[in-house]
Amino acid sequence: MRQIAFINGKFLKWEDALIHAEDRASNFGDGVYEVVVAYGGKPFHAEAHIERLLYSASQIELPVPYSPDEILDIILQAIREAEAEDEDSMIYFQLSRGFSPRDHVFPEDAEPTFYLTVKPFHPMPMDERRRGVKTVTYPDIRWARCDIKSLNLLPNVMAREYAKRKGALESLFVKDGVKITEASSSNFFAFIDGRLWTHPLSNEILSGITRGIVLKLSKKLGIEVVERPILLSMLEEIEEAFITSTTKEIIPVSSIDSLRLPVGEKTMSLIEEFQKLKK
Ligand code: PMP
Repeated sequence: MRQIAFINGKFLKWEDALIHAEDRASNFGDGVYEVVVAYGGKPFHAEAHIERLLYSASQIELPVPYSPDEILDIILQAIREAEAEDEDSMIYFQLSRGFSPRDHVFPEDAEPTFYLTVKPFHPMPMDERRRGVKTVTYPDIRWARCDIKSLNLLPNVMAREYAKRKGALESLFVKDGVKITEASSSNFFAFIDGRLWTHPLSNEILSGITRGIVLKLSKKLGIEVVERPILLSMLEEIEEAFITSTTKEIIPVSSIDSLRLPVGEKTMSLIEEFQKLKK
């Protein structure tokens, strides 16, 4: 496949995908984004991602220059342009408030900048997934609107780098030293007392599309879900845990700091169900 980009109406080679230096995305992180994967050329839950982009944009009063159907068409056309119809690919798109001389207030005349890229996507192989991944805890130093998928990712970047330095895949955000909200780029789930716990939807977490899929699959499998925060004081009670995201899908957690966890059957049954949805 070819790596391509789309900027404000035009398909370009990835290396020609240039944006103005004074775009508000680079000056202020003044924009929102989404990541969709396509399995064998078919976008997975694209409608939900587009809906979330519209929600994020509305929350920062950012006009969206395309309708949901038009965004879906751009995604499908981009997959064709990238010659990725038979492959797994990752589609990133972001919308910013456009370019304008740097000034905090919203510019009156700027056109929003919409860009999209398509790249190859390689989900984590199943044997690696079965081994689980290490996680570490990190203070949740983010703002009070984590429900908006905004371009401001500095705390997430800091948390992810911290994880890497500790030999872990993800950092789990700990809010006020008390509870786990989510991870730096994924949602967090844990089985406690045979029930599946995850932080409730609120301004403190992103409403993950994969999180929503996992909740539906849990219902199908007869797993009871508890949408309540997992407290640090409950860590020793965790039987199994996993993280979810569009690009990670479902990955079992084998440790949280020094606490070791088994990769259990319940998590593996959710992974199996998820694999079926991809076909
Ligand atoms: N939380 C955060 C902070 C994220 O960045 C992501 C990845 N977008 C998620 C959760 C998972 O969301 P999704 O399943 O929609 O990819």
